[in-house]
Amino acid sequence: MEISANTQALAYLVSAVLFIFALKGLTHPSSARQGNYLGMLGMLIAIVATLAGSEVTSYGFIIAGVVAGALIGGVLAARVQMTAMPQLVAALHSFVGMAAVLVAIGTFLNRQAADTLNAVLMGELSAGIVIGAITFSGSVVAFGKLQGLISGAPVRFAGQHHLNALMGVLTLALAVHFAMTGSMTSLIVMTLLAFILGFTLIIPIGGADMPVIISMLNSYSGWAAAATGFTLHNNLLIIVGALVGFSGAILSYIMCRAMNRSILNVVFGGFGSETGGQESAGAVAADKGVKSASVEDAIYWMDDANRVIVIPGYGMAVAQAQHALKEMMELLEAKNVEVRFAIHPVAGRMPGHMNVLLAEADIPYDHVLEMDEINPEFASTDVALVVGANDVVNPAAKTDSSSPIYGMPILEAGKARHVYFLKRSMRPGYSGVDNLLFYQDNVSLIFGDAKDTIEGMVTALKGGGH
Ligand code: NDP
Repeated sequence: MEISANTQALAYLVSAVLFIFALKGLTHPSSARQGNYLGMLGMLIAIVATLAGSEVTSYGFIIAGVVAGALIGGVLAARVQMTAMPQLVAALHSFVGMAAVLVAIGTFLNRQAADTLNAVLMGELSAGIVIGAITFSGSVVAFGKLQGLISGAPVRFAGQHHLNALMGVLTLALAVHFAMTGSMTSLIVMTLLAFILGFTLIIPIGGADMPVIISMLNSYSGWAAAATGFTLHNNLLIIVGALVGFSGAILSYIMCRAMNRSILNVVFGGFGSETGGQESAGAVAADKGVKSASVEDAIYWMDDANRVIVIPGYGMAVAQAQHALKEMMELLEAKNVEVRFAIHPVAGRMPGHMNVLLAEADIPYDHVLEMDEINPEFASTDVALVVGANDVVNPAAKTDSSSPIYGMPILEAGKARHVYFLKRSMRPGYSGVDNLLFYQDNVSLIFGDAKDTIEGMVTALKGGGH
């Protein structure tokens, strides 16, 4: 069945509205699921309306592509660990970038053969290729860093920014030349330079800044899609591209603000280092004047506390401790202890990482508070339980101006009466910076896998001993 251009435009309008409501839904965990459904419905309508449009003349390749894509996507989504979600997102951005490059080059070659190129289209093609190529190689580097295939440390060399600036200007000049003349040489050199630029722009950025970079690349992939929308005269792709472009940009801004950094500082700062550091545990802890504690020590204070604040971090995701935490929360609440969860905007390895995991364990949303809401509560809290978090509570961010995380707002866990860190060793967090909180008087470390430790706490709370 073929639908008219008007019907297709109407369907696209409905999809666009659904996408906007989807984004609205995604702004809060309680409405996120519904937001996702609306987005899926919008995408279904968009795909059906596109396939039924007059532009599509044969379905063979499309069906093959849809089946292959759906299979790969389905398997990836089912298999991926929550902790590996950021690299999956980076990989998906790279596909969008490459698609934009291929569509633009394909359109150029077709329209050149048909002699239907015009100035506006050439401008769109140039933009699509440059943004798409930068998005592609930048996302591949981000994927490599997050997956541990490339060093997470900033890779820097003298004259790096000048070289990038030079390549940027050259790419831009070639893009203009290509748009004006359709020169094949300009097209090839511009495309190659843009690929290299994506690589050289992202390689100096350290692991700790990857969250911002991922959302920045998300924004680029949106602009690449919008450019493709112009090329294909597809209004919905333009709208969706702009939605993704802007939401990625806004998210990057919010994350920079959360880290008290400017976007330029992130892009040109070369901040952060590789995960991990020296291998060490209890003995080293004692050497350094760090106290280690047992599950029973912590339970002693938690049992008749008024309030316990749990600070989840990346280690909770690794240990998958969220379900055990829910059980612990219920046991404590049965003893009239108020339990709250404190979320730092960059806790874990992707925006919203902790919210997703806590939601998965059915922890009520009103128990989960953002940094600004909960920070004033720490001073009147009996126990702060830091579950696999590290950087997000490190006071070096406030007190040590030489620290690479200086300026990042933190969760003020150190102000609680007792602080217990649940982690496996003395290794630092993602930024590679030693945590000054370990050495504070009211702080003890309980070494071990976070899930095992919390399960031990659950048993102890049930009165079963440990
Ligand atoms: P951190 O990376 O600072 O610390 C995580 C801690 O978890 C480590 O110190 C580790 O210590 C511990 N850990 C790991 N596995 C386990 C386990 N099985 N059981 C118990 N503990 C464990 O995490 P935070 O969440 O505090 O901070 C996030 C950091 O990641 C920030 O620097 C942020 O900038 C960065 N980042 C954030 C992204 C985002 O979008 N949210 C994306 C990419 C990076 P040990 O090894 O001793 O167990």
